Amino acid sequence: MADRKGDLNIDRKSRLRIPRQTMAKQKPEARVHNFDEVYLGFDEETAKLEASRCLQCPDPAGCIQACPIHNDIPRAMWHISRGEFLEAAAVYRETSNLPEVCGRVCPQEKLCQGSCVVGKRDLPVFLGKLEYFVTDYERRRIGIPKPTLAPATGYRAAVVGAGPAGLAVAEELIKRGHAVTVFEILPVAGGVMVYGIPSFKLAKSVIADKVKFLGELGVTFRFSTVIGKDLTLDDLLTKEGFQAVFLGTGAWTPTKLNLPGEELTGIYMATEYLVRGNLPPEYLPEGLQARPEAGKHIAIIGGGDTAMDCVRTARRLQVQTGITDGSVVDYYRRSEKEMPGKVEERTNATEEGVRFEFLVAPVQFFGDADGHVRKMELIRMALGEPDASGRRRPVEVKGSNFIVEADNVICALGYNQDRLIEKTTPGLKVDKWGCYVVEKETGATSKPGVYAGGDNVTGADLVVTAMAAGRRAAVAMDTYLRNLPAHA
Ligand SMILES: Cc1cc2nc3c(=O)[nH]c(=O)nc-3n(C[C@H](O)[C@H](O)[C@H](O)COP(=O)(O)OP(=O)(O)OC[C@H]3O[C@@H](n4cnc5c(N)ncnc54)[C@H](O)[C@@H]3O)c2cc1C
Repeated sequence: MADRKGDLNIDRKSRLRIPRQTMAKQKPEARVHNFDEVYLGFDEETAKLEASRCLQCPDPAGCIQACPIHNDIPRAMWHISRGEFLEAAAVYRETSNLPEVCGRVCPQEKLCQGSCVVGKRDLPVFLGKLEYFVTDYERRRIGIPKPTLAPATGYRAAVVGAGPAGLAVAEELIKRGHAVTVFEILPVAGGVMVYGIPSFKLAKSVIADKVKFLGELGVTFRFSTVIGKDLTLDDLLTKEGFQAVFLGTGAWTPTKLNLPGEELTGIYMATEYLVRGNLPPEYLPEGLQARPEAGKHIAIIGGGDTAMDCVRTARRLQVQTGITDGSVVDYYRRSEKEMPGKVEERTNATEEGVRFEFLVAPVQFFGDADGHVRKMELIRMALGEPDASGRRRPVEVKGSNFIVEADNVICALGYNQDRLIEKTTPGLKVDKWGCYVVEKETGATSKPGVYAGGDNVTGADLVVTAMAAGRRAAVAMDTYLRNLPAHA
């Protein structure tokens, strides 16, 4: 294979003249009628041209530094620019367990693309979409390549939770020769990647392919099993005979508004709304299988990725119910500049007919005679001094209250920890928010042999950071297992 280092005498000026390529999308008027992925992928020539815009910055390139898992992005771009798509996909797989997901859902403008030097003069190289393109190319052509597994060690590890953190641990431990069983509450693996992020952003088949691949490597999945109820963490380490456990349980308890009228029907929490709106019944536990309502005026409270997923789901449900004169409005208490979600998702939402109201916060909800929400009172906000997050704190503008129509309200305010495992496990330390206290580099908890990572340690964050935590923990768990007395 050609060597990139020997081929870097590139003409950077002419590369800067190549126009930014775009990835085709379903047209807004068509896509609101379906839940299929909005982006349609690059064709091969477009991908090569876009990757040729990369200036092959000398190490350490800013994009590598900005990527939480330090993908060797310039090397991947070099391969793509030469039409070596499988080689490029292999570059991502060296450092990532889920490049096909990260290419689709990472907030690249804040990570790799945000540090791309091309972006200083023009739009940055479309790094995320190229990662998406090559890993899909690989999945279609040859599937996810099977790694060589280390000889069996005889040790057994349990992974609790099949989200990105848990799946990364499972893959990394099975590669290192340990037997792995994943325990999961829900009937299908994927965590928020399946039970949260809608299929118009991330097709369910992407995760299904990954889970099938892990099964073929030998990972065992035990679904519909609640650790902390059906089995305790200590049961896993004693009765079930696992020598190490990874907790990748995420953060699933929604933050409530605690406002008058919040109990009215037609008001939903984001995850319930998203899973009922997006998923086929066989993915869902009984009681959550019916579609949520789609009223004429739908209000979403919040400004992050979850809120964007809700507004776009609401729009689709509304259109598919035949409502043509309705509204879907996102209400956010800060300004657009402080919004944490991806700009691209806001653009997509706007194209689909969603409206945004900034600097407003809900005050109370009003129902009809049947106890169903119909109106919402809001108050205008102004931005004050920065808070602990560094963003300017919203403060109420006295007397600015107003009322809007709201036949459904969806609360997308964030998530907190579930305390079930902590409550049923003596000696497992958590902080005041219920996040597991771990050693930063290893994910080791206060309980020997028990590791944790992802949203249950950091609070709600990203797929890539959860996966990175899983990879770090797997390395530490491997060392722990290999140093157990029986193998000393
Ligand atoms: C709606 C939504 C949209 C998002 N969009 C994006 C995005 O676009 N980009 C991005 O990077 N991030 C996004 N995120 C955040 C991202 O999905 C999470 O940060 C990430 O999934 C966390 O991974 P995790 O492995 O820690 O946990 P999770 O993905 O939450 O997985 C945890 C798993 O553990 C299982 N579990 C929990 N408790 C138990 C138990 N006691 N026993 C057995 N199993 C248990 C759960 O059922 C779940 O399957 C989004 C989050 C939400 C909610």
